[in-house]
Amino acid sequence: MKKVLQNVQVVNEQSELETVNVAIENGKITAIGADVTLDGAAIIEGNGHLLSPGFVDVHTHLREPGFEHKETIATGTASAAKGGFTTICAMPNTKPVPDSVENMELINGLIKESAVIRVLPYGSLTKDISGEVRTSIEELKAQGAVAFSDDGVGIQLASTMYEQMKEAAKHDVVVVAHCEDNSLIYDGVMHEGTRNVELGLPGIPSICESVQIARDVLLAEAAGARYHVCHVSTKESVRAVRDAKAAGIRVTAEVCPHHLLLEEMDIPSDDANWKMNPPLRAKDDKDSLHAALLDGTIDCIATDHAPHTVEEKCCGMVGAPFGIVGFETAFPLLYTQFVETGKWTLKQLIDWMSVKAAQIFDLPYGTLEVGASADMILIDLNKEQTINAEGFVSKGRNTPFNGWVAKGWPVVTIFEGNIVYQEAE
Ligand SMILES: [Zn+2]
Repeated sequence: MKKVLQNVQVVNEQSELETVNVAIENGKITAIGADVTLDGAAIIEGNGHLLSPGFVDVHTHLREPGFEHKETIATGTASAAKGGFTTICAMPNTKPVPDSVENMELINGLIKESAVIRVLPYGSLTKDISGEVRTSIEELKAQGAVAFSDDGVGIQLASTMYEQMKEAAKHDVVVVAHCEDNSLIYDGVMHEGTRNVELGLPGIPSICESVQIARDVLLAEAAGARYHVCHVSTKESVRAVRDAKAAGIRVTAEVCPHHLLLEEMDIPSDDANWKMNPPLRAKDDKDSLHAALLDGTIDCIATDHAPHTVEEKCCGMVGAPFGIVGFETAFPLLYTQFVETGKWTLKQLIDWMSVKAAQIFDLPYGTLEVGASADMILIDLNKEQTINAEGFVSKGRNTPFNGWVAKGWPVVTIFEGNIVYQEAE
């Protein structure tokens, strides 16, 4: 059945808005332009809203299987759809870990059963993400692993990383790294800088992240591997990635919205809704992340959506797990703070959240081209709303952005031609 999404605005290469209609058939975009006719098609009224490709998030935690009290595939994907995401990559720190054919099949089955958008699971690099026994990249790739990571922890042994990078190169898949040297964590719960001293809390030095990135880019060069760095947070990390790219090493990198929006001095108190890994860094780190996005050192934005329960986050930083939710606030916060203020163009923001993320894994998503999957969102750029964590679709309420006012809210999300989220009237 043919559908036409009518009266929507797309951003062209000059970052100007053009009014178009979009024809959809069999879940794919079949035509897009001012001249697309409506003859007999089912109409989806666009109300002149912005049409963007569905966002692609390469770094998410859905918590199922194993931690369904924090999030499930159903609630996590509904939360993602509300935030405008239509393709997300799920990190492997679940229970069980997708480290075997059997576990991968289990997770694929759960996704098929309850996801409302496309979920592409990672395979782990080591068994039980314990950093010890290496997984079979060949077997997990055959089961649909989008890429390979032990996110949540760093790979401590260089030889383990090197051997898996060589395997990944052989099978043309990307190694994705949460970079953290365990000998440099010092039981820290926030950035080692100024604010942790004021709050009397143990700090994580920047080198905890950057030294492992520096190691890994050299390993990637030697292995001939494609290597992607998760959630870059420090200026030294940016420099390591920039130098590696200049040297021709096949490295890509992501940054999270919170590291672009916040810095250590914003942390109001010993409140675990401000605790994430890597932590909020210093102002000059934040500035370097912005520069790195603009000069292409950092390729895309990823949320690192990491839900936890209210009880887990209730009682200060030391006992609480790391992580904050991100799907439902990412676009409006970045749009309000950086596009409305003229720092970025709308096209830059959309690209960093869609096509640039998809390109890291050669995924054919995140575009509005004819022939592409009809994964699209309508955004009301004029809608202004106060962020209220109690209203999240995610089970997680753990956000430092509660009470912030933001503009530019997704109002309709279309996945493979079907509406999977629509704003309540
Ligand atoms: Zn991580």
